[in-house]
Amino acid sequence: MLNPDNTFTATVLGLPRIGPNRELKRAIESYWAGRIDAAGLHDVAAGLRAAQLLRVRDAGLDSIPVGTFSYYDQVLDTAVLLGALPERVQGIEDELDRYFAAARGNAEVAPLEMTKWFDTNYHYLVPELSAATRFSLHPDKPLAELKEALALGVPARPVVIGPITFLKLAKSLDGSDLLERLPDLLPLYEQLLGLLAEAGARWVQVDEPSLVTDLTDTELAVVHTAYKRLAELSARPSILVASYFGRLGDALPVLARTGIEGIAVDLAAGGDADVSAAGALRETLVVAGIVNGYNVWRIDPDTALPRLRGLRAAGATVAVSSSCSLLHSPYSLEPETRLEPRLRSWLAFGAEKIAEIRLLATALHEGQDAVAEQLEIARTAVRDRRSDARLHNATVRARVAGAAGATRRAPADERRALQRQRLDLPLLPTTTIGSFPQTTQIRAARAELSRGTIDQAEYDARMRSEIAEVVALQEEIGLDVLVHGEPERNDMVQYFAEQLDGFAATTNGWVQSYGTRCVRPPILFGDVVRPAAMTVRWSAYAQSLTTKPVKGMLTGPVTILAWSYIRDDQPLADTALQIALAIRDETVDLEAAGIAIIQVDEPALRELLPLRRADQAAYLEWAVDAFRLSTSGVADTTQIHTHLCYSEFGEIIGAIAGLDADVTSIEAARSHMEVLDDLNAAGFDLGVGPGVYDIHSPRVPATEEIQTSLGLALKAVPAERLWVNPDCGLKTRRTAEVTASLRNLVAAARALR
Ligand code: GLN
Ligand code: ZN
Repeated sequence: MLNPDNTFTATVLGLPRIGPNRELKRAIESYWAGRIDAAGLHDVAAGLRAAQLLRVRDAGLDSIPVGTFSYYDQVLDTAVLLGALPERVQGIEDELDRYFAAARGNAEVAPLEMTKWFDTNYHYLVPELSAATRFSLHPDKPLAELKEALALGVPARPVVIGPITFLKLAKSLDGSDLLERLPDLLPLYEQLLGLLAEAGARWVQVDEPSLVTDLTDTELAVVHTAYKRLAELSARPSILVASYFGRLGDALPVLARTGIEGIAVDLAAGGDADVSAAGALRETLVVAGIVNGYNVWRIDPDTALPRLRGLRAAGATVAVSSSCSLLHSPYSLEPETRLEPRLRSWLAFGAEKIAEIRLLATALHEGQDAVAEQLEIARTAVRDRRSDARLHNATVRARVAGAAGATRRAPADERRALQRQRLDLPLLPTTTIGSFPQTTQIRAARAELSRGTIDQAEYDARMRSEIAEVVALQEEIGLDVLVHGEPERNDMVQYFAEQLDGFAATTNGWVQSYGTRCVRPPILFGDVVRPAAMTVRWSAYAQSLTTKPVKGMLTGPVTILAWSYIRDDQPLADTALQIALAIRDETVDLEAAGIAIIQVDEPALRELLPLRRADQAAYLEWAVDAFRLSTSGVADTTQIHTHLCYSEFGEIIGAIAGLDADVTSIEAARSHMEVLDDLNAAGFDLGVGPGVYDIHSPRVPATEEIQTSLGLALKAVPAERLWVNPDCGLKTRRTAEVTASLRNLVAAARALR
């Protein structure tokens, strides 16, 4: 029951952890490289946490999430908390070594699988559980971070991932229903809540984002039982169950009946409708996620405040919050001095979102007069954005309307015959996914160009020499279809965004993608126009160095959309088709420059899939249309490849065939080829390259191991359709690992031929 003396008004659901200038990323990488020790790493981490806690407290949050810090991933942290690390790492004595072995593998052990966190571009590590897993509580991290925050005088609210979400996100090794393990987990959560209360926590946030997915009645009953039981504990903090990335729907009234004190609802996804439908929530603190943590637009107070008042009218006590953790927002707009001032005034990054939350909370609780001036500034910015001509380009809109529904000319089997004649490739052709290691020389050249110490001509010359090296290396290794290696690309989306009108780039807008990998999503603010060719000179140069085919390398419309901060003023589908047209123009130019194979990467196709089944068909329809439009401009003799970064296709398996790409490369090394059977079952009969080298780990796979994988693949796919490739781009790896691995990959393909 909600205690009126124990509520709060302004919070966020989680905080970013990489550091305002990626300090944590650098420290972890230094630790891996042996340049600093564990104590040195812990010092950097503690310093970052303390500075951040004081910053957000001073910004006016009166309840602050703690424990969302992580050295790698919050789901892995939960596996540690619950004693559920895989057996293969449990023998590793040192705690950090064990942790990082589970995350990234080492010479002896394979890492946990990695997959997308709901419909975001964050990746989590998938816990491996079975009926035999023995759970045990290891609460050191949450307790230590709580104590640290309380010592700083911060109103700390520990955050843990809830038992339902943990079990639903885990992989069942023996096919057993993991939710049946809930009775084994609940006592540990009870114990944890007791310990947190004892240590001084007045609230605890239990994250249950899985509750925004479709749940069966049985699952809803399990949710009810679990939280009722936790609510019945006597000595515990008030419980806030946090949902995000979607609407709770039927789960909201279920939660409301359990006796917990708070529910966080995602208003960015329209969750206010669920609150109204659930009726009076008098005994509940509704933590209203009105400020979108997964996008960057400044909020319109004139639409936000009435919605917040609506919740209050429904009977709830209301706190203002972000819709999800600020893990997904860049830290602050402050360093973005290069952003055009007009566009900058439309934006809110992490620090600005916290200020918006404070502003809305004050306006809600103390009245608008208290903050009239700030509200007016926000209104002006929102109005200005709507009126900008770059958001309403008539030419682009007419072209999109005229191009809808475009596809390739001949059916796939006719194209296959034509391409075979033109390309004359061996059986089991070997290739890579596009990027080669981004060496320190490459990064240095990019840094020097941006500092102005070298000019564009010098930069281009250095990139050409990288390309020449990579082409020579691939020829020497004996690969069949070469790539230029993508040295000129900082990032597969950013690179295109920088050259397309309608996008803006940030200088420091980093967010964590996985582990120490961070990305800087561009901001897609206006209508999309391609003023000039973007990749042709690099691909054409690479092709001029070899008689083997060089694959042109583009990023697909859905992925560009998924990895950018996107417009919220028009349907996603409309934006996707605008991007598709720009990519189509590029494929036509590549073809004219003599490129015979073009890969259009769509690693994010699945990530954008709506979490609720009812919304999925409409998404897949426009996503597939956009891809087909982007590849519809080339001749049938030109081979279109695509690359998808995962292998559990589930609901999208039909859409993969619908893309109609001549060859599709997928991730399979970590998931052991089960995927090919699924593809067969869905009637997929195009070229396919299941990854046989796991590039997420530094391990070099042996020739025999690759041969075994290919042998398994050949049981499911005829040799005529099978390609041999790593499971993703090589940019994060070292040249020595890559060279050794690719040699083994080519040797394995040759042995099988
Ligand atoms: N072509 C890209 C690369 O190799 C694909 C990367 C990806 O799928 N994320 O880097
Ligand atoms: Zn990939």
